[in-house]
Amino acid sequence: MHANNLFTRVIQKLYYNIHTHHLNKDAESTVSIRSLYGDFMQASSGVVCSLGLHPWYLEDHEQLLKELEQFAGLPNVLAIGECGLDKLCRTDWELQVSLFIRQIELANKLNKPLIIHCVRAFDELLSLLDKHTPAVPVIVHGFNKKNVIAEKLIARRMYLSFGTAITNGESPATQALKHIPADRFFLETDNAEVGIEDIYRAAAAIREITIEAVILQLQQNFTTVFKYSK
Ligand SMILES: [Zn+2]
Repeated sequence: MHANNLFTRVIQKLYYNIHTHHLNKDAESTVSIRSLYGDFMQASSGVVCSLGLHPWYLEDHEQLLKELEQFAGLPNVLAIGECGLDKLCRTDWELQVSLFIRQIELANKLNKPLIIHCVRAFDELLSLLDKHTPAVPVIVHGFNKKNVIAEKLIARRMYLSFGTAITNGESPATQALKHIPADRFFLETDNAEVGIEDIYRAAAAIREITIEAVILQLQQNFTTVFKYSK
């Protein structure tokens, strides 16, 4: 499918789930970006997706990187990721860093946004992005950290995506979503067995706006970030 046709199709949708590992979990009225961290050939089916080497799964990184480069240019691949840094996993740190940098370079080359996975490594993430500043929009997915971290990311013009953590009124994510500028956030379901509509509903309650206002805002944010170069 031509990129322009795909884009016309996706911007007419109601809901945007910018990070999910489930297929067909969302209603027809939703654009779901399926996050793949292996088996990148699946992208050739035309499924709307993002492709990236996840820091948890880097065993076959040479092969994965080759496949990533092979399929990431497809028009239905909307972003590079999830990729990033994770201090809680066993993967060698230097390897995480070097593969993350390779993926920043790939995102720049293809002019596609980056979707970032970051666990207990925000200081390292920020200093790495200082040295290897992406030329494309950057979204930190599954954000559930305090406002001070949110503010640092926002100050660098990054976007934050919130998932089921916002259904817990006590979570840092809920506080962060309350204060984030409207043009800086996205919503997602990740691995959770919920519909994106539920996350939209939670977001509307937290921001004390209507669900229609969330829908309009996220359509606008999506259009801004995922516009195509072709
Ligand atoms: Zn994920």
